[in-house]
Order: sequence, then structure tokens, then C-alpha cells
Amino acid sequence: MKKIPVTKPYFTEEEIELIKDSLDSGWVAQGPKVAEFEKMIAAHEGIAQGVATTSATTALHLAMVAHGLTTGMDAIVPAFTFVATENAVVTTGATPILVDIYQETFNINIEDLKNIIATKYDKKDGKLINKETGNVLWGIVPVHEFGLCCDIYAVNAIAKEHNLVVIEDAACALGASINGVHQGAFGNSSCVSFHPRKSITTGEGGMILTDDVALAKRMRELRTHGSTVSADARDKGKGFLLPEHNEAGFNYRMTDVQGAMGIAQAKKLDLIVKAKRDGAAIYNKLIAEKLPEFITPVEPEGYFHTYQSYVCMLSLEKLGLDSIKAGGEFRNNLLQKLEDKGIATRQGTHAVHMLGYYKNRFGFVPEDFVNAYACDHLSITLPLYVGLTAEDQEYVIDTIRATIDEM
Ligand SMILES: *Cc1c(COP(=O)(O)O)cnc(C)c1O
Repeated sequence: MKKIPVTKPYFTEEEIELIKDSLDSGWVAQGPKVAEFEKMIAAHEGIAQGVATTSATTALHLAMVAHGLTTGMDAIVPAFTFVATENAVVTTGATPILVDIYQETFNINIEDLKNIIATKYDKKDGKLINKETGNVLWGIVPVHEFGLCCDIYAVNAIAKEHNLVVIEDAACALGASINGVHQGAFGNSSCVSFHPRKSITTGEGGMILTDDVALAKRMRELRTHGSTVSADARDKGKGFLLPEHNEAGFNYRMTDVQGAMGIAQAKKLDLIVKAKRDGAAIYNKLIAEKLPEFITPVEPEGYFHTYQSYVCMLSLEKLGLDSIKAGGEFRNNLLQKLEDKGIATRQGTHAVHMLGYYKNRFGFVPEDFVNAYACDHLSITLPLYVGLTAEDQEYVIDTIRATIDEM
């Protein structure tokens, strides 16, 4: 049986050589390779500073802390995203305020964002105060889901009006842009991921991108236990003195072994994104010809989609189904049958309001964020990676066609 995974990282001898370099040098904790990797990624995105971390989740947490998010504050996050976006907010002690998305782009719904600000908050002394809890609204964490930038200019306009912080969750969106401006240039900071499901990988890993040089310095300190070199050690070259710790920081350092892998991967980024964009175009064409039940992902004018994942939606109308729940059952059935036939697919991502912790803590029901709920139940990620051939893709689509016809 032909086996097709949903994704597969792309490595060559260069990863092995650079990792060996790192081992040979004896420098395996964060060091020169990580510094070089940071510069490469920041340069690729046109941002001044890159601060590497152990994951996008820790990057988000670190960026949020550095931008002042803490207990007694709210952060607005989309309801359809990987749970790490919300979890990072919870880790700071702040409260995530969920907002719905658009089904077409899977990204934050601007009308709902405006509505939530207008209905949930009172403006007092230039701050937005949550009417129920008294929390201060700190900012917005929009997600560029699956490699497509959200309507970030609209998010920024709202943030500017209310003096809010914007941190882009660009975990999926390294290389994504709008009219040539890359993710990371829009918000106060952005966070990318190097998990194997993302475009390039360091095993686990993440990076904060920011143009704020002073803040990047503070992020680097927080990344290393909140340590700063004391004035004495700096001025008098007293290398034997331990650093100062004026803040309770974290250990979120990437290893140099990962940095080595990252350097080799960063060189492949454009090639990987191109292969995925080409693959997405092939799927778009095949689906238009053969699968009317599928709604293909959109790439609005001016947007550059990196297709970290190629995610379709099932059309309830075309399937003749009358509820999202029934659509979800059909979807799960279909994905199970595909798995049995050796084709790995996945649901797009979660409706976070339906996950135990968030559902129980806030008492959410599916209809609270109905688009997120629909995308949770009706989305399908198709296999896409470097090395997947046009023939493989046709095989995937033909197998889906035959499977649906049997159902
Ligand atoms: C993958 C992902 C994360 C978490 O990334 P890690 O590097 O695995 O921590 C966060 N947000 C979104 C939107 C993601 O897709």
C-alpha cells in the first residue's frame, strides 16, 4: 500500500555537517550558531532582531511578558488556532478573550473584534476596562493561520485607536507577506515556530522577531534567567563574577545543535515555500476538477500564502448535510477511511473554546464562535511537503473522490 504522510521535513547533508560542526566545537548550548540563525531569519523577514527560543509557545510567552502582559489583564486571541496561543496568555496570568474567525481565511474576524471591544470594555483614562472583571485590555494576538497573514492592517488600526499591543502569532507563517511586507513587520513583535509541522524545523524551536532593539535585549535577558551582566563585570572585565538577576526570568534558550540545524534549514526556506505553493496550486486545480464537496483555501490579492498547511473545508451544502455536527461526523469518517488507505490527513486546528480547559473555565458552547466551530469540524489538511509529486497529489485526490463515492 502506498503511504503518504501529512508532512515531512526536508533535510540534506548540510544539516548533518553543521550539527557535526557544533558537536566538534564542543559548544552545544546556545552560542554562535544560534546567533547566526537569528540573523538569517530576521534578515529573511526584514526585521531588525531575532530572539531564538525553545518553541513558538515559549516565544509567545516571553514576548507577552516583555510587552507587559500579566495578571489583571486581558489579551484578545482568535478562537480557531493551535491551543498554544491561548495557553501562552494563561501562562502569564492574564485572561484570554476569544474572538471568532472568518471561515474563508481561518483568520481573526475584524467585525467580531470590533464588537468585542465595543461591548465588553469601558474606556477609562485611555484604557479599556473589562466591564465584568475590571481587567485592563492589554492587546491582541492575531494568528496568521496555516501560512496566510490575517487582515493585520485592520487589526493594527484597532490597536492604534485603543493603544493596544499587537503580537503576531506567526508560528505557521514564516515567509508570509502582504504586498511584499513580511509577517513580523506589522505587530510590536511576532513569533515563529520551527516545529517539524512548520515550514522549516529545528526539532523544536521558535523565534521572536522585533524591530525594537532595546526590547530584544530585555527578551534575551529574560530568556536567560533574567540575567544581566553587572556594571562591575562589564567595566572591569571581571569574567569570574556571576551576572545580576533583577527579574525572575526563564530558561528558553535554543541549543547550538538546533541553531546549526536551523542555519541549514533557513537556506532551504524559499525552496520549501516554493514547493508548497506549487503543490497548493496543483491541489487547487485537481479539486476544482474532481472534488466539488471541497472548498479550497484562499489567497487574497496581494497576500503571499506559504501553505504551512494546505487546509480545505467540506461544503455542507454540496454534501447535502444539514448541520456542522453531521459534517464533522462525515469528515472524521472520511479521514479514517483515508488513513486506512495509507493517506494521512488532519483536521485543520482546534476550536479552542471547545477544548476542556477553556470550555470549563469560561462555560463556552459551540455557537459562541460558530465559524471556529465549523472550521474545527469541517476542515481537512491534505499532505503537502517537499518531495510530494504531482502524481502523489493526483493519487490523494482520486482516492478521496473514490472514498466519498463509496460513503
Ligand atoms: C504550532 C503553533 C504554535 C506552537 O508552536 P510550537 O513551536 O510547537 O510551540 C503556536 N501557535 C500556532 C498558531 C501554531 O500553529
